[in-house]
Amino acid sequence: MRIFLATLGTETNTFASFPTGFDDFKRGVWIETGIASAPASPWSVPAQRWLQHAKALDWEVVESLYAFAEPAGPTVQSAYETMRDRILADLAAAGPVDAVLMFLHGAMIATGYDDCEADFVTRMRQQVGPDVRIGLELDLHAHIDQSLLDVTDLIVFYKAYPHIDYGERADDLFVLMQRTLAGEIEPTMALYDCKVMGLFPTTREGPMPGFVADMFAAEGKDGVLSLSLNHGFPWADVPNAGAKMLAVTDGDEAQARRVAAEFGKRFYAVRAEATLPFVPFSEAITKARQKGDKPLLLADVSDQTGGGAPGDTTYMIKALLDAGITNAVYGPLWDPLAVGICFQVGVGATLNLRIGGKFEPHSGPPLDVRAEVLFLKRDAYQDQLTSEKVPMGDVAIIRVDGLEILLNTRRVGVFSPTMFTHHGVTLADKQVIGLKNLYKHRDVFAPLVREQLFVATPGACPPTWLDLEFHRIPRPMWPLDPDPLGLD
Ligand SMILES: [Zn+2]
Repeated sequence: MRIFLATLGTETNTFASFPTGFDDFKRGVWIETGIASAPASPWSVPAQRWLQHAKALDWEVVESLYAFAEPAGPTVQSAYETMRDRILADLAAAGPVDAVLMFLHGAMIATGYDDCEADFVTRMRQQVGPDVRIGLELDLHAHIDQSLLDVTDLIVFYKAYPHIDYGERADDLFVLMQRTLAGEIEPTMALYDCKVMGLFPTTREGPMPGFVADMFAAEGKDGVLSLSLNHGFPWADVPNAGAKMLAVTDGDEAQARRVAAEFGKRFYAVRAEATLPFVPFSEAITKARQKGDKPLLLADVSDQTGGGAPGDTTYMIKALLDAGITNAVYGPLWDPLAVGICFQVGVGATLNLRIGGKFEPHSGPPLDVRAEVLFLKRDAYQDQLTSEKVPMGDVAIIRVDGLEILLNTRRVGVFSPTMFTHHGVTLADKQVIGLKNLYKHRDVFAPLVREQLFVATPGACPPTWLDLEFHRIPRPMWPLDPDPLGLD
């Protein structure tokens, strides 16, 4: 067998004011010389797994571009078209292949393209014809409709949020593709529109861990090959938004439709209970004044780069300082200018520094502080899972009235406590840990803190859906509309 591998993705926030440009992909993940030697990361592991599986089977592998950008506003049209056409040209130059496997995020929007994945794979299908098998791995925060199913043989989404299963789902996709190429199975896909938007973590209390377990339990039985719940990405105003249930069966389209509807309705029934609860900003700061045996964790969710926000708002830092909370840590605050200044003055220096609030209208006001520089590191990283490293750029730790703040030069979320502990910051002795992040930190920080609050701060990805100005998403859509499917 001969297979072709590529990656192209980002997660587009249509409410963010700054575009995702070609340089953002080059600064993010940009691999042109083969995935084998690339550092293991959430964006490289899927293709690395496919390469390992293919090599073990003695298959020939043709590799193209692997490109991924940290989420932001819509991708610049020419940047998307350049990367898309580069991969299509590589595929044409590769000659005949049996299958294509790609990790595409699933929520990439470019100027002129509401659905980059459907556009990309439709062009690919036109190029390779009906016989080449095309398999995709997608993040569960995707937008999808029938147009992508029509041109794809197999789609497997992540099942876990926080995303800790991209490697295992890549394995699932490979095995299904291998069986398809061997003629053992004939995948048939169907999608059920749940008409729901929101955030539905799969590892907190509530119905989602059981829902995910039930999907696993149904796979491999009675012709059901794969089940995925696409949660949707709520900060995009596009016509194919919303949670959708995908079922893949062995050649039985009616069964795929039936199973997708069955699981889709089960998710619909638990949607409210499954939703991540958010705490008003002022209530969170009031709670943060109280001391406990362990730190309180405040997640500054509305300015998290993983949702496409700039990552440089100062609202929570100012609120902590105004509340007199001086035994605390906060990070990351994306501010390359301030980091550069800290490197110029060096560790031990004290200076007047303007931090944050620079990049786009959602960034809000900067904060002028008297800062002591505690720690500096070039090319810093944090750990993810057991062996993966997530680059953070250059890091400066400053202290302002007892509050330690992690500044960095690369927009990135919080994957583990090593974001701080690799850089001289202790956590156990703090009253408050403030994270500019949504949810992916939750399980790995749980042993360190007494409680975690997901705080509805101001920003480019607020959890207050009813306040967002949606014009193009399909209606009815829960929670904007109370019971879109009429099943309550
Ligand atoms: Zn995601």
